[in-house]
Amino acid sequence: MKQYQLTDWLPTTKKETDLRGWDELDVILFSGDAYVDHPSFGAAVIGRILEAQGLRVAIVPQPNWRDDCRDFKKLGRPRLFFGISAGCMDSMVNKYTANKRLRSEDAYTPDGRPDMRPEYPSVVYTQILKKLYPDVPVVLGGIEASMRRLSHYDYWQDKVMRSILCDSGADALIYGMGEKPIVELAQTLQKLKADGQTANFSLSPLNTLPQIAFLTKADQWKEEDSTTIQLFSHEECLSDKKKQAANFRHIEEESNKYEASRITQQVGKQLVVVNPPYPPMSQTELDHSFDLPYTRLPHPKYKNKRIPAYDMIKFSVNVHRGCFGGCAFCTISAHQGKFIVSRSRDSILKEVKEVMQLPDFKGYLSDLGGPSANMYMMHGKDEAVCRKCKRPSCIHPKVCPNLNTDHRPLLDIYHAVDALPGIKKSFIGSGVRYDLLLHESKEPAINRTAQEYTRELIAKHVSGRLKVAPEHTADRVLSVMRKPSFQQFEAFKRLFDRINREENLRQQLIPYFISSHPGCTEEDMAELAVKTKELDFHLEQIQDFTPTPMTVATEAWYTGYHPYTLEPIFSAKTQREKLAQRQFFFWYKPEERRGITDALQRLGRRDLIDKLYGKGNDKPYGKGSDKPYGKGKAKRR
Ligand code: SF4
Repeated sequence: MKQYQLTDWLPTTKKETDLRGWDELDVILFSGDAYVDHPSFGAAVIGRILEAQGLRVAIVPQPNWRDDCRDFKKLGRPRLFFGISAGCMDSMVNKYTANKRLRSEDAYTPDGRPDMRPEYPSVVYTQILKKLYPDVPVVLGGIEASMRRLSHYDYWQDKVMRSILCDSGADALIYGMGEKPIVELAQTLQKLKADGQTANFSLSPLNTLPQIAFLTKADQWKEEDSTTIQLFSHEECLSDKKKQAANFRHIEEESNKYEASRITQQVGKQLVVVNPPYPPMSQTELDHSFDLPYTRLPHPKYKNKRIPAYDMIKFSVNVHRGCFGGCAFCTISAHQGKFIVSRSRDSILKEVKEVMQLPDFKGYLSDLGGPSANMYMMHGKDEAVCRKCKRPSCIHPKVCPNLNTDHRPLLDIYHAVDALPGIKKSFIGSGVRYDLLLHESKEPAINRTAQEYTRELIAKHVSGRLKVAPEHTADRVLSVMRKPSFQQFEAFKRLFDRINREENLRQQLIPYFISSHPGCTEEDMAELAVKTKELDFHLEQIQDFTPTPMTVATEAWYTGYHPYTLEPIFSAKTQREKLAQRQFFFWYKPEERRGITDALQRLGRRDLIDKLYGKGNDKPYGKGSDKPYGKGKAKRR
């Protein structure tokens, strides 16, 4: 194992900056997460990428915001800017369950302590820094800021909130993956500094930087670009839900386009300006980000403490970024965009070799994946067509004929990794898109490779249980979710079972399902119960839909309109409605039987009672009766 010095991590204290002989910092990053020096942790990535530009960067992880704010003062003022990220997750998703209950554990905090970050750190940290150092620019980044850059529905406060720029007082916000914008922003601020100018984000050259958002005075902003999309104002959205829904379609389309437009939205007398994103990174740029000198370890200050999220990923390697699935409820693909950027084989193998040096590595990689497991190197055959494309998904409602679905490059990666001496097995822990495996391409070679990949995945890369995400059984709900028909799951299950038999394996397929998604009714859940019973599943991985900021499903849930059609859409909203849907996951539990049979009678679906419990068995169990439906275990995810 490599021996590290304290100076191999980015500094977090004055003592550590002194060890490096630094008397001034260029950039200070504040993060809601613990500092894990690993390419899966945003603050480490941004810190390392700025360090590679020759800048002196420090990270203050999980500063104490409750005391005299000494954590915010201990490193003084940076020469260029403060960077703030709430962490790898939106802070409210991190803190609260779908039922709005406080979670008992924070996966991104040492020993899982749940009290180390405030609600909305992007707002809380910025306000403190702006009080202490009003003239130093503050730039927000990370998923919380990214997904709250324009008016958005906040489930925890149950209201439409304005851009987080307004509530925080930050000077600018970077959305999406931050490497390219943060470097250009730092370079621009450096030039301005060298010229003796102050940073004003509503003026050139800062106001033209791609992938940033900033506030300006509405009456002073002169929009010169005729392609700019002006959204309904925040106030219009507050008074008309349909306008909030209509806005979202533009936001999603522009964040997924190769050549996107600028978006503006008025909030009172201010204007939020969101510049279009950078085109997807090149492979060289992505490799550069992953190849930075991460120690891949938590900072030594956390010695002997467990950071649950780090334990999850320490033996895993990410092979690509982006997801073209476009699932309506997913934040990751909304944040990373639909174009896949894949790492080179050399860069992946280099990282695998580094993982192998970790002291407790026993030869098993827990994941070789990405936002989806099997999209590595997939992209449009004719890029010119993709450049003009507005589709939010390349595979829904049908696989795009321009998409190259070749699994060969990914198989080659698996083979190269498995050939490394010291690797006993590489598992695939990321979600597999079985619709891509079942897709019939016009090219027979691609179909043969998909079959080869499927067999190899099931025979060699599953650790006993393969998790897949059909998410529902009703095709109408699946269409709202932008997921494939349930028939595809059934076909994949047959294939999975056959390959297991042929390979003499007894592995399990673990399906994930969601209740109360927009478009889903109680009757849809009743059908789900019947279908999963027919397939002999006692579900483990289930969840109620949680409306997280700025997804198409969230906006549909809140507004009652589908953002793309503006047609009304039903959502279960009250606790009673949600529980009425949820109970159907547990049709096999005796204690749920009364509620289910009552509901089915009310819905006029005695046929489903017969299917679930047998003909004439529509009575709930009385005391002391047998329990022929077994003891199902149900876990929440
Ligand atoms: S043209 Fe097809 S492959 Fe290209 S981005 Fe659009 S949907 Fe995806």
